[in-house]
This record gives sequence, C-alpha cells and structure tokens, in this order.
Amino acid sequence: MVLRTVAGRRTGETADDLESWLVQLQGCPDVTRTQITACTNPSHGDEAATWFYVEADPDEAVARHRCVSCGQSQHVLDSEEHWNFPRMWACPSCSQSIAEVGAGLHVEPVDQVNWVALAARCVDCGTIDGLTDFTMDPMPADEVLRRL
Ligand SMILES: [Zn+2]
Ligand SMILES: [Zn+2]
Repeated sequence: MVLRTVAGRRTGETADDLESWLVQLQGCPDVTRTQITACTNPSHGDEAATWFYVEADPDEAVARHRCVSCGQSQHVLDSEEHWNFPRMWACPSCSQSIAEVGAGLHVEPVDQVNWVALAARCVDCGTIDGLTDFTMDPMPADEVLRRL
C-alpha cells in the first residue's frame, strides 16, 4: 500500500472531474492515463452503464464492482486471488452507495503499467473518494484497462 493520498476528498459534478482528481494526485506515481469504468454487459447496447456498487479495501488492494443496472460484477485486476470480503463503499458525505468508478494509471514508456489508483464519485452528492491502489509487475496498458 503505497498510496494514502487517495484518502483526500472533494466533490465533482461529472465523471470528467473524477478523472481530473486522479491526475492531480500527489505523493504517488504520476497518473498519465485515466479510464471511467463502464459495464461491458452487451445488454446495455450503445448506452454504457457507469453506475456501480463497489467493495474495496485500501490495505489489501482489492476491489470489485457490480453494475447497478444489470448486476454483472467484476473483480479489479487480481483482486479475486486475495479477496477478503471488504464492506461495500458508501459515500462519506451522504451515505448512499452508488458510484461512478475511475481508474488512474501510471504508464511507463513502452506502454507498461505498474500502478493503478481507483476512486469513486458519488452519483448523488458528487463526493470523490479514493478506494484503493494497486502496485504490480509491469503489464501492457490494454490488458490493465480490460481488467478494471
Ligand atoms: Zn451492466
Ligand atoms: Zn454522496
């Protein structure tokens, strides 16, 4: 667990603000690429579903999200291998549990990722909250993005 700066908090009006928040994180590897999580279930057609319930543990570096709309869930990166059943995220300001999820990647030259930060934006009040971060052996960015 390298990162504590994700514990900082502010609010954002849109998913763009969540990405901006990730990019400005201090005291950790530079975030050079961001992605807002969208559910890959084909039932959503052209309209990407971006509202999730999230379980995450900042100490164990595990996270899983479940699509509010279709119920499909996904473990982030290798979280399933050391899953420890963390509590579901709830907004620290308004207590509801539905969030947009954004990832910030530190991409080294030659397109390798060795660090990812995960954060949530409350869809109700806009509070942005750090979830956890992952340090890993360098992995191609495309593969990382698929596993978020
Ligand atoms: Zn879905
Ligand atoms: Zn809230």
